[in-house]
Amino acid sequence: MSNPLLEFTDLPPFSAILPEHVEPAVDHLLAGNRAALERILAPETPRTWAGVVQPVEEMDERLDRVWAPVGHLNAVRNNAELRAAHNACLPKLSDYNSELGQNRALYDAWRAVAEGDEPLDDTQKRLLDQSLRDFRLSGVDLEEPARTRFREIQLELSELESRFEDNVLDATQAWSLQVTDDARLDGIPEQARDAMRKAATDRDLDGFVLTLDFPVYHAVATYATDRALRETMYEAWVTRAAPVGPHDAKYDNSETMRSILTLRREGAQLLGFEHFSALSLATKMAPDVGAVVEFLNNLVERSRETGRAEVATLAEHGSKLGLDTLQPWDVAFVAEHLRQERYAISDEDLRPYFPAPHVVAGMFKVVERLYGIQVRECGNGAPHRDPPESWHPDVTYYEIWSGDELRGSFWLDLYTRKGKRGGAWMGECRSRSRHGDSVDTPVTWLVCNFAPPSSERPSLLSHDEVTTLFHEFGHGLHHMLTRVDQPSLAGTNGVEWDAVELPSQFMESWCWEREALALISSHWQTGEQLPDELFDKLLAARHYLAAMDMLRQLEFALFDFGLHMDPQPDDLTVVERHLAQVREQVTVVPYAAYNSYPHSFSHIFGGGYAAGYYSYKWAEVLAADAFSLFQERGVFDGETGRRFLSAILERGGVRDAMTGFVEFRGREPRIDALLALYGMAA
Ligand SMILES: [Zn+2]
Repeated sequence: MSNPLLEFTDLPPFSAILPEHVEPAVDHLLAGNRAALERILAPETPRTWAGVVQPVEEMDERLDRVWAPVGHLNAVRNNAELRAAHNACLPKLSDYNSELGQNRALYDAWRAVAEGDEPLDDTQKRLLDQSLRDFRLSGVDLEEPARTRFREIQLELSELESRFEDNVLDATQAWSLQVTDDARLDGIPEQARDAMRKAATDRDLDGFVLTLDFPVYHAVATYATDRALRETMYEAWVTRAAPVGPHDAKYDNSETMRSILTLRREGAQLLGFEHFSALSLATKMAPDVGAVVEFLNNLVERSRETGRAEVATLAEHGSKLGLDTLQPWDVAFVAEHLRQERYAISDEDLRPYFPAPHVVAGMFKVVERLYGIQVRECGNGAPHRDPPESWHPDVTYYEIWSGDELRGSFWLDLYTRKGKRGGAWMGECRSRSRHGDSVDTPVTWLVCNFAPPSSERPSLLSHDEVTTLFHEFGHGLHHMLTRVDQPSLAGTNGVEWDAVELPSQFMESWCWEREALALISSHWQTGEQLPDELFDKLLAARHYLAAMDMLRQLEFALFDFGLHMDPQPDDLTVVERHLAQVREQVTVVPYAAYNSYPHSFSHIFGGGYAAGYYSYKWAEVLAADAFSLFQERGVFDGETGRRFLSAILERGGVRDAMTGFVEFRGREPRIDALLALYGMAA
């Protein structure tokens, strides 16, 4: 049988990939890799880089390249058949990974290379170091029965984490609310109404359909004058995949979460760690559990009083609007109202200046000036070929060039649609790798969930959304501008997880600079740039409710980190207990008792941020401090830009993040720039 997943040599043929291709392709690759491994481990194979390490790297790479589009399609074009095919492969991949990670003969072979007298360069040494560490973290040293048990745990976890995400997506998409009375939508901006009208048309219904797509939820929470409508949406949003609220019990993630936590702890303890948070730090920049907790608590102490005062101000303003008590579903609404009153600026005033296509083009100009690269839409200025196919007509393909050298390329998928997971992310289609004299350049996908354009107008972004786009592009540049030829250390690979958010949060800084905004803003009707008057207001409002925002992130981080340290994760109340504890310590905004955001907290239950959500704040220190050098030297200072490129973006995981940071900044990071960013005194 011909299988497009096994036949492509360049980019994935998205239209040809069908659910029935997935399992056979994975089976075929795993069988091939297992056979190759036997040859690699044969006694006559020399224990050298070329004999042992390189072939295993190539096996991994091939598997990654086939699995990447499958995981990607499952996230952006989800349907029942693809999901079933994807999920059917998870145990097979988990088994294979455990088998490889626990393979003592392979471990010994790698050790022989590491300890042998073959001359190795720094990249090779680093790769061996990291791999040997990862062998240990896969339980290579364990004896039976712990060894088998550890494998079972990994297997179950891969399925449970995927189920968690499936439940969130399903609960989110299953909920909707038809509104036929226009008056109920009072206050909601046109763009969001368009989306609601379209959702109704798509379902053959009259009037409007409100969904839990983020742009819709956000518009209601922020602008709807109908308090009951805000409450309804709030309840639906904060109870997704939870046992309370309006959602079907079949999406309830409670048991899945408890199992995930229990298994994570058991696995960590088999490896000799006290708990999962300690294990998490084994591959991170933060030195130990105490350092993370102290870092977060320090920020809580610095922001709590201001945060309380901000909430009190909101409550006072709310009472002027006739809202006796500030309810959870009033917070965003009152905050927006007060912002307009105080700073005479609203998200909606800015949106017309940020039509998505113009923002994207302007963002490319920003990085062109910083790094001396050119970003070109394929088939529309890019020199060497027509655009490859994508997974949806809305998606565009771009290439990044340095002079006549192709550095990398990416698809950009901007808009919400059915079957697409919420949020924004950068994903890797392939990593940079050298094969003899030729280099495969890195390829990524950048995915956002902005409101789609309508027949009336282009997609108009809020300033927040502009920032999100820059954030994901920062991740993308980190992956695509790498100069590292070993895929497992190229781009974002091999970088400590709590430093991965450095290039992304760093890129956000330009969204607050006048010179950059001149490049990315253009009124969709008049073509006018963001006027100085609006820019000044935007800046003036920058620290508005900054402490509340900081505390919200700290709440997530402390909840995640503490939860993964709990000695009794199988206790029925473990999530509630930690939620209550962290709310007691950190939370200043009102919340409803039924608010169960952990049930849809995909970062920590479904993905790679488990006991690692703190990474955002940790890396934000690095990002703010790195950007402060541009503030000193000019935000488009080419020399500083090139230095960031060569010290950080190009280096992947070849050396530790601190070394790269010090090379760029000339010293270790300081927290002052982050505090200034939030309007707090050092
Ligand atoms: Zn990020």
